[in-house]
Amino acid sequence: MSPSYDVIVIGLGGMGSAAAHHLSARGARVLGLEKFGPVHNRGSSHGGSRVTRQSYFEDPAYVPLLLRAYELYEDLERATGREIAVLCGGVMVGRPDSRTVAGSLRSALQWDLPHEMLDAGEIRRRFPTLNPDDDEVALYEKKAGLLRPENTVAAHLQLATRQGAELHFEEAMLRWEPYRDGVRVHTAENTYTAGQLVICPGAWAPQLLTDVGVPFTVERQIMYWFQPKGGTARFVPGHHPIYVWEDAAGVQVYGFPAIDGPGRGAKVAFFRKGRVTSPETIDRTVHPHEIRAMADHMSRCIPDLPGTFLKAATCMYTNTPDEHFVIARHPAHPESVTVACGFSGHGFKFVPVVGEILADLALTGTTAHPIGLFDPARPDPRLRSGDGTSTAAASA
Ligand SMILES: Cc1cc2nc3c(=O)[nH]c(=O)nc-3n(C[C@H](O)[C@H](O)[C@H](O)COP(=O)(O)OP(=O)(O)OC[C@H]3O[C@@H](n4cnc5c(N)ncnc54)[C@H](O)[C@@H]3O)c2cc1C
Repeated sequence: MSPSYDVIVIGLGGMGSAAAHHLSARGARVLGLEKFGPVHNRGSSHGGSRVTRQSYFEDPAYVPLLLRAYELYEDLERATGREIAVLCGGVMVGRPDSRTVAGSLRSALQWDLPHEMLDAGEIRRRFPTLNPDDDEVALYEKKAGLLRPENTVAAHLQLATRQGAELHFEEAMLRWEPYRDGVRVHTAENTYTAGQLVICPGAWAPQLLTDVGVPFTVERQIMYWFQPKGGTARFVPGHHPIYVWEDAAGVQVYGFPAIDGPGRGAKVAFFRKGRVTSPETIDRTVHPHEIRAMADHMSRCIPDLPGTFLKAATCMYTNTPDEHFVIARHPAHPESVTVACGFSGHGFKFVPVVGEILADLALTGTTAHPIGLFDPARPDPRLRSGDGTSTAAASA
């Protein structure tokens, strides 16, 4: 007889570790299977920091989920004693009609979120490290800040284990199939059965979720750490905010204060524009021309940031055509399978609330959280065109 569980969670990265926590907290017998070790750097949830913010330029529909996520960051800190969120304040900078500024303001106004609008002079006065053009403005949000991704994953794994979840590392799911009223999952070591399956595969979605009806594209992304000119003193939280900064051409960069001590620098990255890749073929080497391009870009807006290049690391986005997530019951297996994928480079700030939603869906079939935007059958023509993407063309 193969071991039997209430729920099997595939992938124990950001989303899967949160699902394992919330499921086991509700008393479910949980098995988590992860291809690599705990808190690894070969997926999408590493690199020391992630931006979090509430005035969400991507769509105001995300805001209620963010408000809940913020409550859950605190719960997680309290339950584990780990540093999860550093809410040091943040600016969304660009021309007033840029997506970054106008979209953030729209969410702030719609949800009555505390914020301030700063003109270029005010930005320079409040944050002397920043050097906007005269026609650039910022939405300042006091509650924006950063998350610690490795601590967040470790905290969820720790709580899940404490609550009785069985977590197997270095044990990949090879395949699964419907079995009786649930599912059967095969690994190289064993076969397991469960009533419910929750699949959180990150950049492996194009391989594991070919039949959800959304084409996924995996994108190579680079994080850069620079030691600022004059050292990190002016770049610590309280002086230097988190930022998302859109230039006149629509290129967005984002970055962080220096949070890891003197000599460890401050991190910055382009938001999008990475090369299409896959987990098997990603080029993990960061090349001199890439480092130069980032240093050149930053020399305009934060001139003292690109002092000395310290290090860089690669990571993967898993994009949907409209850059909105997929969180739903699996359209082809709605009774027993739940999926969470396609986080399109902006999912980490939602990790704890996604865990809660996945527990709702797996245990009750529904959730009170507003997730209509993440329905794989949403009526967005970009999802159905099949343009420009992916190994996993839509099958439905
Ligand atoms: C450079 C970079 C910067 C980012 N910045 C931000 C930011 O500032 N703010 C923000 O909100 N978001 C940000 N994101 C996005 C965010 O980090 C991701 O959306 C989030 O981490 C995705 O979590 P996940 O659980 O889907 O993927 P992962 O954390 O990668 O987890 C997927 C897991 O599934 C496992 N797996 C895959 N296949 C199998 C299998 N067959 N069997 C068992 N296990 C399997 C993998 O090994 C992996 O551990 C950023 C991402 C990157 C790469």
